[in-house]
Amino acid sequence: MDVGVTSATTVFGMSIRENARDWARANWDPAMPVREWWQLLADERYSLPSLPEHAGGRGYSRQEENEVKRGLGDAGVLGPPGGIATMMAAPTIADHGTPEQIERLVAPILNGTSSWCQLFSEPGAGSDLAGLQTRAERDGDEWIVNGQKVWTSLAAGTDYGMLLARTDPDKPKHSGITWFAFPMQQDGVDIRPLVEMTGQAFFNEVFMDDTRVPDANIIGDLNDGWRVGNTTLAYERGSLAGAGVELPFARAGSSSDELDQPAGGFGLRTEGGPRPQVGAAPTAVRYGEYAGKLGLDDPARRDARVRLYIREEVNRLLGQRSRSGAVPAIGNLGKLAMSEIARMKREAGNLSIGALGMLTGDDAADGPGNGEVQATTLHSPAPSIYGGTDQVQRNILGERFLGLPKEPGPAKTTPFRDLPKN
Ligand SMILES: Cc1cc2nc3c(=O)[nH]c(=O)nc-3n(C[C@H](O)[C@H](O)[C@H](O)COP(=O)(O)OP(=O)(O)OC[C@H]3O[C@@H](n4cnc5c(N)ncnc54)[C@H](O)[C@@H]3O)c2cc1C
Repeated sequence: MDVGVTSATTVFGMSIRENARDWARANWDPAMPVREWWQLLADERYSLPSLPEHAGGRGYSRQEENEVKRGLGDAGVLGPPGGIATMMAAPTIADHGTPEQIERLVAPILNGTSSWCQLFSEPGAGSDLAGLQTRAERDGDEWIVNGQKVWTSLAAGTDYGMLLARTDPDKPKHSGITWFAFPMQQDGVDIRPLVEMTGQAFFNEVFMDDTRVPDANIIGDLNDGWRVGNTTLAYERGSLAGAGVELPFARAGSSSDELDQPAGGFGLRTEGGPRPQVGAAPTAVRYGEYAGKLGLDDPARRDARVRLYIREEVNRLLGQRSRSGAVPAIGNLGKLAMSEIARMKREAGNLSIGALGMLTGDDAADGPGNGEVQATTLHSPAPSIYGGTDQVQRNILGERFLGLPKEPGPAKTTPFRDLPKN
C-alpha cells in the first residue's frame, strides 16, 4: 500500500543516517564545550537540516531530518539545539525574513547561542488570536510596544520573542497585525512565572511596558503578521504532530549556563526540565514492562496498550508526511491525534501501574519508569490546548478544508477599533 511515505531505510535513509553517524563519531569529543559542538553541527548543517539551504539547513524533509537525528543518536552524541527557536522561529524567519535577518537571527539559533519564546496568546486572545490588543507604535526607526501576553512557555532568560502586535487598529482585525523579532532582554519586560499542576513553572505572563523593537526586526511586511503568524503556527502544529527522535539535550540561549559545560554530560530531557529516562522502546511496550513487573497484566490492560501502540505508530507515519505537503491539513490532523494520544497514554499508563498512579513527587519517581506515567498524567490536558485547542483545529478543518460555513460575526472589513473586544 502506498501511504506516501518513502521508506527512509530502503531508499535514502541509510546513507543519511550513516553519514550523520560517521560524521558525528569523527568530530565528537565529550569533553568539548556544548557551544563548540553546536557550532560544528551548525557548520555541517546538521542543527536543523529541514531548513532550506539559504537559511543554513540542507533542505531535507522531516523524515530525512529524523534520519540525521537517528545517526547522531547512533553515535551517542549531544543533540542539536532544540525547543521553540528551532521548532518555530527559525523556519518562520527562513520563509519570510530577508537575507540580512536570516544571517542575524537564524544563524545564532543554529549554533545554540540564541533562544526564543512565542508571544502570541493574550488574556483575551487565545483561540481568537486575531483579537490581540498588544500595541506597537512607530517611533522613528523603532516601535514602542505595550501590552500583556500569557501562557508564554519558557520565556525566562530568552533572547527573543516571536511577537504578534497590533500596528494598525484602523485596519480589519486580521490585517493590522505585525510579526516582530522582539528583544526580551530589555527594561520594561516583566516575566512572571505561572506554576502548573505538574509543579513546574513552564509558562509565564509577560508584560511589556514601553518596550522597544527595531523596525529592522519586522519579519515579513508591516501589517502582514497574520500571514507570517500562520506560518509559525503551521510549523508548531506540524512539529507537535509527529513524533521526533529524542537525543540528549542541553539548554540553548545566551543566558544558558550549559553552553560552556562538557557536551558529554547531558541526558534525555525536555526543555521544561528533567524527564524520566524512558529509553527508546515505544510507550506501550514500556508500559507493558511496568505491568508485567507489577503482576498487573490482563487482556483488558493489554488491549489499551495495543490501541495506544497502533495510534502512536499511525501518528508517527502522519508526522513523516507533515512537511511533505502530501496531505492538506495534516498538521491540524496530527495535532488532534497528538492530544488524543496524550489521553490514551494516561489511560493505558494508569491501567498498567494501578494504584501506583496516585503517587506524586519523589514517591512517584521511585516507581516504574521513574514516575513516567504520573508525569504523563499531569501533563495530559496540555496538548489539547497549546498550539490551538482541539476545537479550534476542528473549526479550521471544517472551514478551510471541508468548505463548511464560517461562524457568524461582524463583517471582515470592520476596522479592529470598532469591534467589540474580548
Ligand atoms: C502548556 C501550554 C503552553 C502554551 N504555550 C504558549 C506559548 O508559548 N505562547 C503562546 O502564545 N501561547 C501559549 N499557550 C496558549 C495557547 O495557545 C492557548 O491557551 C490556546 O490557544 C487557547 O486559548 P485560551 O487559553 O485563551 O482559551 P480560550 O480561547 O478562551 O478557549 C476556552 C475554551 O473555549 C473553546 N473555544 C474558544 N473559541 C472557540 C470556537 N470558536 N469554537 C469552539 N470552541 C471554542 C476552546 O477550545 C477552549 O476549550 C500555551 C498553552 C498551554 C496549555
